[in-house]
Amino acid sequence: MLIVMKNGASEAQTEAVVQVIKELGFQAHPMAGTSRTAIGITGNQSPIDPSRFETLPGVSEVIRVSKPYKLVTRDFRPEKTVVRVGDATIGGEDLAIIAGPCAVESRAQALAIAQTVQKSGARFFRGGAFKPRTSPYAFQGLGEEGLLILAEIRETYGLKIVTEALDEPGVDLVERYGDIIQIGARSMQNFTLLKRVGKSSLPVLLKRGPAATLDEWLLAAEYVMSEGNYQVVLCERGIRTFIQHARNTLDLAAIPAVRRLSHLPVIVDPSHGTGKNYMVTPLARAGVAVGADGVIVEVHDQPTQALSDGAQALTPEQYERLVSEVRSIHEVIAPAPVG
Ligand code: PEP
Ligand code: MN
Repeated sequence: MLIVMKNGASEAQTEAVVQVIKELGFQAHPMAGTSRTAIGITGNQSPIDPSRFETLPGVSEVIRVSKPYKLVTRDFRPEKTVVRVGDATIGGEDLAIIAGPCAVESRAQALAIAQTVQKSGARFFRGGAFKPRTSPYAFQGLGEEGLLILAEIRETYGLKIVTEALDEPGVDLVERYGDIIQIGARSMQNFTLLKRVGKSSLPVLLKRGPAATLDEWLLAAEYVMSEGNYQVVLCERGIRTFIQHARNTLDLAAIPAVRRLSHLPVIVDPSHGTGKNYMVTPLARAGVAVGADGVIVEVHDQPTQALSDGAQALTPEQYERLVSEVRSIHEVIAPAPVG
């Protein structure tokens, strides 16, 4: 259920509604917007009687939410969420570019790539220190040593660090060295992990699971938000289908579909979405053309030597070109329509 306060309702009136929600044993999520404040109610397992709220001072309307998610919806927050890391944003006017290697492999490798990323004007550097690999024998990442390298990149290049946590101890470490916690596709329904990052003060980049429906993906975001962390970025990274010409099928229709239902920013990952170097730039262009708020791409100074995902890594030259192309597309398309 959502309680929408009247335009001009006082803070005290909002607080009084929050108190009633708490007395009923539920959680209240007040969200101030530009024209009105909405208060989401979570924690109830059966419908709540709306008459309990309708007569409270300052209340404009009580909306029953028929969808399984509440806080991620535009009913809760009509304006787009802008995720902020210092002065860098995702979901604002600027197209967010997040770039870097699949994995941090060494200090020299990561710093060389960071230089390319900084030169492109991107604000975010990606790189895994903890890698979710299909085979237990494949490179698993450098762990904390990798995070220390990322912290050095943040310091030296002023780039914001996006890096994956695979488990709860990993979240503690990423909180120490990183700026945005990536939840990988394989972890999208790791509910204890989602609840943990929901308690974090860092934004969360939530990848879509390889077989997740839109509802399942949005419910994963709802898990994070229901714990109080509203800084969530959704990332379409391709789903598993019958096709054999690419690693995954990048579901571009998911971008406008998310946009219609949710206020959360949504970005596109053409690297994992295709798995093939030559497809990354065309699909990045397409992702921006359909309204993505940003792009996350893998870049490597020596793709043939990469310890993971070399086949989809762009060379620095290819990456620079991609950035200029997606920026031009972003400039010409109108702001994505709300409906
Ligand atoms: C990654 O970003 O390197 C990664 C492992 O992504 P995904 O979880 O989408 O497979
Ligand atoms: Mn990768």
